[in-house]
Amino acid sequence: MTEVAIDATVAKQNLLDLDREGMERFFAETLGEKRFRAHQIMKWIHHRYVTDFNDMTDLGKVLRAKLEAHAEVRVPQVQFEKPSTDGTHKWLLAMDGKNAIETVYIPDKNRGTLCVSSQVGCALNCQFCSTATQGFNRNLSTAEIIGQVWVAARHLGNVPHKQRRLTNVVMMGMGEPLMNFDNVVRAMSIMRDDLGYGLANKRVTLSTAGMVPMIDKLAEVSDVSLAVSLHAANDALRTELVPLNKKYPIAELMEACVRYAQRKRGESITFEYTLMRDVNDQPQHARELARLMREFDNRLQMKDAAKVNLIPFNPFPGTRYERPDDATIRRFQKLLNESGRIAPVRRTRGDDIDAACGQLKGQVADRTRRQAEHLKRLESQGGPGVDAAA
Ligand code: SF4
Repeated sequence: MTEVAIDATVAKQNLLDLDREGMERFFAETLGEKRFRAHQIMKWIHHRYVTDFNDMTDLGKVLRAKLEAHAEVRVPQVQFEKPSTDGTHKWLLAMDGKNAIETVYIPDKNRGTLCVSSQVGCALNCQFCSTATQGFNRNLSTAEIIGQVWVAARHLGNVPHKQRRLTNVVMMGMGEPLMNFDNVVRAMSIMRDDLGYGLANKRVTLSTAGMVPMIDKLAEVSDVSLAVSLHAANDALRTELVPLNKKYPIAELMEACVRYAQRKRGESITFEYTLMRDVNDQPQHARELARLMREFDNRLQMKDAAKVNLIPFNPFPGTRYERPDDATIRRFQKLLNESGRIAPVRRTRGDDIDAACGQLKGQVADRTRRQAEHLKRLESQGGPGVDAAA
């Protein structure tokens, strides 16, 4: 057997951080191994959930020793998990000594959706969001993002292409995914890769609060579905609810969505609208929304280019917002339906375990200092200004 020199001072590469291209490069450049070996190991990790190189039985001893010397498969540790009575399942995953994030699996009739987080906390400070109350600590690495899928898929006994328990991923958990662009794009590439989780482009959705320049950047590198957290169809109210709107107002955001849909050859875009009592749930708000959605369809010359999801607000401790009553929700929906828009009301799932939309919180340490640093950095890069977190 060939001796493999181990340099304990060199940090091992976490293979969960690598997509197909990165894995092939690592195998060629660091291990001096062929491409198909990189593919073999991706299948061990993402299809069979094996993390110990010694259990990867079709790899030779020499390769296993090289892997031991230079690499590891480090998955997030489950700190706590809780099934809901409605089948929803929530995991609290430890990301380091201090922080934890939440990941939620939501089964439905013929689909199973995993809601994945992209940051520890969030700097955007949307006023109705539980994550926002924790501030921002840091971006998640690719390994920490795809690790959420790994944990859930293993729990569900997921076998890509064979069973359908995990059919969809939405980047809609804690954080603004477009503010952690490279890691999110790499993780989404593993989700869609046959050597990863084999999900179709349409079944991976990125949800953004409206980072306009990054929507254009995303269109250049990825084919995933896009969802936008809209919540109001006029700038005054949207700026109040989503402070990022001050930097990227609705007209600019809608134009970026038009460009995204055009590049994706007419794919529809989903607009999420959280209904809050006496804030954005009145007939005039429904009419404004209907008008904005019609304009979007017209720009794309396509019926239903804009899809609307209505989400009744899920209260959390300390919030000043309330959920509208059922009659108000139905009235809002009816007005949209009368304008020709199908607008499903999202059923509240997992609210007995605080896993409903907008309730994800995790544990965010050391947030104040990091939040200030993060916003300063973004400001200097032309990102959202400090008032995004005001
Ligand atoms: S709604 Fe999303 S973007 Fe806004 S603060 Fe919450 S996690 Fe961040």
